[in-house]
Amino acid sequence: MKEITTRLLVIGGGPGGYVAAIRAGQLGVSTVLVETSELGGTCLTIGCIPSKAMIHAARQFEHAAQSAGGSPLGIRAGQPSIDITQTVQWKDGIVSRLTGGVGTLLRKAGVKVIKGWAQVQDGKTVTVQAKDGESMRVQCEHLLLATGSEPVELPMAPFGGAVVSSTELLSPVDLPRHLVVVGAGYIGLELGIAYRKLGADVTVVEAENTILPRYDAELTKPVLQSLKRHGITLHLDCSMEGHDERTGVHIRNAQADQIAIDADRVLVAVGRRPRSSGNGIESLQLRMDGHFIAVDDRCQTSMRSVWAIGDVTGEPMLAHRAMAQGVVVAEQIAGQNRRFQPLSIPAVCFTDPEIVTAGLSAAQAEDAGVDCIQGTFPFAANGRAMTLQSTAGFVRVIARRDNHLILGWQAVGQDVSELAAAFSQSMEMGAQLEDIAGTIHAHPTLGEAVQEAALQALGQALHI
Ligand code: FAD
Ligand code: NAD
Repeated sequence: MKEITTRLLVIGGGPGGYVAAIRAGQLGVSTVLVETSELGGTCLTIGCIPSKAMIHAARQFEHAAQSAGGSPLGIRAGQPSIDITQTVQWKDGIVSRLTGGVGTLLRKAGVKVIKGWAQVQDGKTVTVQAKDGESMRVQCEHLLLATGSEPVELPMAPFGGAVVSSTELLSPVDLPRHLVVVGAGYIGLELGIAYRKLGADVTVVEAENTILPRYDAELTKPVLQSLKRHGITLHLDCSMEGHDERTGVHIRNAQADQIAIDADRVLVAVGRRPRSSGNGIESLQLRMDGHFIAVDDRCQTSMRSVWAIGDVTGEPMLAHRAMAQGVVVAEQIAGQNRRFQPLSIPAVCFTDPEIVTAGLSAAQAEDAGVDCIQGTFPFAANGRAMTLQSTAGFVRVIARRDNHLILGWQAVGQDVSELAAAFSQSMEMGAQLEDIAGTIHAHPTLGEAVQEAALQALGQALHI
């Protein structure tokens, strides 16, 4: 068996692992990265990027269809059609440009990439069954676990046939007539709305009594209205009982009534679970947090020189958190004193309209015993939103009452994902309401709602 020795061995080439490897390489740390599939991991190949590509295609198709129906803008067009095979090819083109780019960046940083399955033997030894058939043993001083997550399967409706995860739904060979989505979380709603725009009938089944249970009711209300406007059927407080190719999806509601829903495709999107077993990680007997690997604020596990980042370490399971953790680990291995202590990890839900949150909500601040004030500005009073024909939603800011330090931001509306940077920067820089209120924001932009929310919290709103 071939033997390789390295300072850092990274298992997993997703956003966590590849960013850690690039940064370590840049800092002169000899680094090996093992990836069994494509570089870029879930995010680049079957997650963030492909889903946003499909969401964009669906939005373009919907716009074309709306113009065909006679647009108030005076645009007239014929009824559009979609060649979904070409849409998927276009999406795949973006994915391969990005994954190819990651390979180039890793090469440039001097990282050795091994394509194969890594099996952990102990905290310093990993064997790899390489894709080209060769097996090797890699000895390392530091082991970084960045193995990510995979979709949760429902025992009464296992994946296969018409029952699919987001992975299959992002590479369709054809469009379903009726898609049933189980789970009204991030994936279920992002993809459910996109498929509706592409022309499928869509029914969403959710176990809780609300959509997007992580967000408050004011934030989800415009999304709920959009689901109605798009003709998406919603079953809240319902549990999945099973699926049968002939009779469709069987659900049970809170009154214990059984309902059968005809469906030719079923997306199960009820969460993701960490890949923390089946790869030798369990043999390390690390301290766990449920199925997640427990880490401290340095991303260190309970075993010396064994680190873990990204989805395998728990919520929030977001690409930018994984990347930020990756940098923190690489810099520590290169000798720097670093900690992963962000004031805010922004979260964006790419529904229509989008939701973005950063920092604390009013309820979270209250639970923490902080006396807060808040300000809200609706997009209905924002000129840019009117010109975009999208006035649903608002921006909200939460700040301490005593010194006006900003603790959190929330927004819902078209394209509000682009406000995430402003939200996070204001908190990381310790901004007070007066800093945002006193900053000249370009006109006409959606960002003016950010300034106006701060003004409103100070009792000085100008445009409402
Ligand atoms: P992953 O990206 O899962 O990468 C882990 C890698 O490790 C994989 O490539 C896997 O093949 C490899 N691996 C595992 N075990 C082994 C082994 N034993 N040997 C070798 N290789 C191994 N997040 C956002 O922030 N924004 C979004 O818009 C967003 N959209 C999403 C949409 C969908 C449909 C999905 C499914 C997820 C989305 N996410 C989004 C979540 C995001 O993809 C993850 O948070 C992110 O990919 C986690 O990065 P990671 O490096 O921890 O793990
Ligand atoms: P999720 O946690 O966002 O939503 C799962 C939903 O399924 C919840 O509303 C839950 O109540 C519901 N549910 C659970 N069991 C159920 C059952 N048996 N029947 C009906 N409903 C049930 O999970 P997800 O949508 O699968 O996404 C997984 C993770 O991927 C997310 O937590 C997020 O970290 C990441 N992600 C992020 C983005 C983004 O950042 N825009 C997009 C997609 C995915």
